[in-house]
This record gives sequence, C-alpha cells and structure tokens, in this order.
Amino acid sequence: MTTRRPVKIAIDGPSGSGKSSVSRAVARSLGLGYLDTGAMYRALTWWCLDQGIELADTAAVADAARRVPLLMGTDPAAPTVAVDGKDVGVEIRTTDISSVVSVVATNLEVRAEMRKRQRVLMADIARESGGVVAEGRDITTVVAPDADVRILLTASEEARLRRRSAELHGEASDTTMEATRDQVLRRDRDDATVSTFHVAADGVVLVDTSDLDFDQSVAAVLEVVARAEPT
Ligand code: C5P
Repeated sequence: MTTRRPVKIAIDGPSGSGKSSVSRAVARSLGLGYLDTGAMYRALTWWCLDQGIELADTAAVADAARRVPLLMGTDPAAPTVAVDGKDVGVEIRTTDISSVVSVVATNLEVRAEMRKRQRVLMADIARESGGVVAEGRDITTVVAPDADVRILLTASEEARLRRRSAELHGEASDTTMEATRDQVLRRDRDDATVSTFHVAADGVVLVDTSDLDFDQSVAAVLEVVARAEPT
C-alpha cells in the first residue's frame, strides 16, 4: 500500500485474539507508527501500585490517570512504555498487573483521560509516521470511530486460551490453559462491562483468526486495509 495521507487503522479485540502481535506486524509492513493502548492502562496500573494508591479508590486512581508521566514509544519494531523515565515494558506484562488491570480500566474517569491521551497520540503518530495502527478494546468504537480502517480481530475462546497459554507458559496443555483462564476470560468479562469488543459495530470489519496462523492473520488484516484504500 502506498500511503498518500496519514492513515488511521483501529484494531480491537479480546485477550488472546493476537491483536498486539498482528497490529505490530501490520504497522511494520505498512511503515506506520503503532499505539498499544492496553499498555497505557497497564502502565497506569503499575504506577498506582508503585505509588501505593489503592486501586479501589476510584478518585485517587482517576487523579493518577491525569498525572501519570507516561511516554509511549511507537516504533512497531520495538515499542516501549516508560513511566516517569523508567522503562516498564517488562513489569506491565506480569500476572500481578494482568490480574488487576481491569479494576483500573473499568474506572470511567480513567477511561475518559486515557481516551483523550490516545486521540492526541494517534494524531501525533499519524502526522509523524504517515499513519498509525492503534489497538485496544474501544478504539474502533469510541477512541477513533472516524478511523480509515476499523477491524475487530476475534478468535474462538479455545484458540485464545491456547495462544495466551503458549505465550505465558511455553505450552498449551490442559493444565496451563486452565491456569490462563482468569487472565483471558475473567478479564474479558470485566472489560466487556465498559467496552464492546466481541461483536463488530457498524462499519467495523470482523476478522476471525481462530483457524489462521500468525502470517495468515497479518495477511487477512492487510487485505482489509488494501480494500479500504481509496483508489
Ligand atoms: O491489550 P491488553 O491485554 O494489554 O490490555 C490490558 C487491559 O487494558 C485490558 O484487559 C483492559 O482492561 C484495558 N484496555 C482497555 N481499553 C483499551 C485497551 C486496553 O480497557 N482500549
């Protein structure tokens, strides 16, 4: 695809749908910037815990969301997340964070602040990199309903558990898949109370990756993007 003007691509999906790795690969392939909005909620969660802020204290967490010195590195080849100058890329992926991030992400004042930041970031990245691929749970519907391409990436529950289990435990046995359940299904259930990412909204293209491998999933998304390109 030759990008003639900054293009905005929004990709949502549940946990384990492959949206982060696929979105990064799509951004690399098209030479665009990349925004991982889930990493922003994770980084805020990490910062609250680091600062001793009770996650149940919704006003204090909302205040933290407005103050957090968050810097997103948006190169899809090596995305980074820094809080107050500290690289927290590893810390935010731990089970400790994954198991509580939904508490922060279902705080509506937090969401208002994050969405504001995400819109500004998307515009900045698009301008600087010729376009942006932003992924999350509410990008196609709320953060950027005006995006040029909007995709909902899904996969069956079984496929999502298998992928997350392989990622976290290096295998997808019955035992490890069971251990992954909380991080995938319970988290999605909680997140779904504030965002719609299981059903494609009007104008959002559904890409089901249950039976696709990684390369096929990337190709499927690139095809949707190519089809959306004005001629
Ligand atoms: O995508 P990832 O699993 O890293 O997202 C972490 C968490 O951030 C999600 O479980 C959800 O609670 C929250 N999130 C969100 N809205 C987004 C992106 C992520 O609420 N746009």
